[in-house]
Amino acid sequence: MNMEKLKTNKAYINGEWIEGAGTFDVVNPATGSVVEKVADLTVSEVHNAIEAAHKAWLSFKVSDVVQRAAMLENWYSLIKEHKQELAEIMTLESGKSLTDSLGEVDYGASFVQWFAEESKRCYGETIPAPKMTNKILTIKQGIGVVAAITPWNFPLAMVTRKVAPAIAAGCTVILRPASQTPLTALALAVLAEKAGWPAGVFNVVTGTDSSGMGYALSTNPLVRKLSFTGSTSVGKVLMKQAADTVKKISLELGGNAPFLVFEDAHIEAAVEGAIFAKFRNSGQTCVAVNRFLIQDSIFDKFSQRLTDAVKTLKVGNGLDSGVQIGPLINKKGLDKVQEHVRDAVDKGARVLTGGRVIEGLFYEPTVLADVPKTALIAKEETFGPVVSLFRFSTEEEAINMANDTEFGLAAYFYSNDIHRCWRVAEALEAGMVGVNEGRISFAGAPFGGIKESGVGREGSRYGLDEYIELKYINFGAVKG
Ligand code: NAP
Repeated sequence: MNMEKLKTNKAYINGEWIEGAGTFDVVNPATGSVVEKVADLTVSEVHNAIEAAHKAWLSFKVSDVVQRAAMLENWYSLIKEHKQELAEIMTLESGKSLTDSLGEVDYGASFVQWFAEESKRCYGETIPAPKMTNKILTIKQGIGVVAAITPWNFPLAMVTRKVAPAIAAGCTVILRPASQTPLTALALAVLAEKAGWPAGVFNVVTGTDSSGMGYALSTNPLVRKLSFTGSTSVGKVLMKQAADTVKKISLELGGNAPFLVFEDAHIEAAVEGAIFAKFRNSGQTCVAVNRFLIQDSIFDKFSQRLTDAVKTLKVGNGLDSGVQIGPLINKKGLDKVQEHVRDAVDKGARVLTGGRVIEGLFYEPTVLADVPKTALIAKEETFGPVVSLFRFSTEEEAINMANDTEFGLAAYFYSNDIHRCWRVAEALEAGMVGVNEGRISFAGAPFGGIKESGVGREGSRYGLDEYIELKYINFGAVKG
């Protein structure tokens, strides 16, 4: 199977490939050319998908766990087998470098493997009853029909992180991928079909009516769980909409990650961690560093080393060899990056490198020093290849600056003082903390945020609980 066989423009409902009444263009951000015209479904087709998923759930919920584990193992093997094709599709529609896309296939597949195994460990427990005539136990059951809405920045991993635990738990899924990047999600459906998944268990609805489709998915009473990854503003809308039918929800939302470097840190390690945590996917990740907080005494040294490293980053079409930094996803994304840089410079920041558009949606990897706390970049996610360096003098000041945000997804810091490491890790208001580590996400660890960065966790054993209802059973009148 080559890329063309995996690349489909039809939606997938109840095991059938559906053409919409119309189509929409999927555009390569690196070239502006149309990659594919994809089925533009209506809201009524979304309701059809929900009904199909509900019908499928009635039998899937009593499926054997070994069957569900095998479904995920088959899917995992096929994803790995088609790593190159999936990565090329992803680069075409998202612009990310092929290296990032190949890495994402491995990362995304690791969740499928993890939950194939975890499905077999969905343990309940026994609880001592107050009287010997009663026996108390808990069982875990799949919650039912799941609606999943995913963003463009991780077109594969955000899908597998939701679909794999849902299937492991015996749930059925309707996935709505971002209209910018539906092709990777559809390719995953091609592979799920090939893996022998029953009709209706996994459905992919594509379209441009994001608010209409989102409304349907978050209000239809047949949907029992809504899992969303995207911006905080859309997450809040979905949370309100889901309230009327009291759905269980998971929200993986925006961040404003701080990266603290203390004077006792290993500077080279901090620079290496900074490059990964800032520039992966051209800075368009929810855990991307948004604010670098550097202790005064090492500010010049760190900023010089980091600037030298940033200058070596290769920008270009993600399919070209050696490219590390692709384009921004669209004009809106580029405009936001330009606005943040302009605003910081107007307020007194110095440009150490970059600071301009190269051409089209390509932006120079940029370093800004002495950014004031009042700059937009201090408060909002920039979502682009821009480093903003702030100064601090004491640990207390650094922690206060780091926590001065309504977000709380990821935080990173570098220090070689073990006592400080514990203190700061505990004090940072974030769901995930990297201590002397810029690479924090893997399948076995709970991924998620606090404050306005979200609700719930993905990956790890906690990720399965998001798709589970806990039932307590009390057996009475047991004869001794
Ligand atoms: P977005 O605008 O919120 O879009 C995310 C998804 O929601 C897309 O599928 C989008 O569809 C859809 N959508 C838009 N408006 C909607 C509505 N009214 N109702 C229902 N669905 C709607 O976010 P984005 O800017 O594309 O993605 C980047 C954001 O995601 C960043 O804030 C980033 O931090 C966050 N993110 C978080 C995590 C995490 O795990 N915490 C991971 C990755 C990304 P269309 O694109 O078709 O409009």
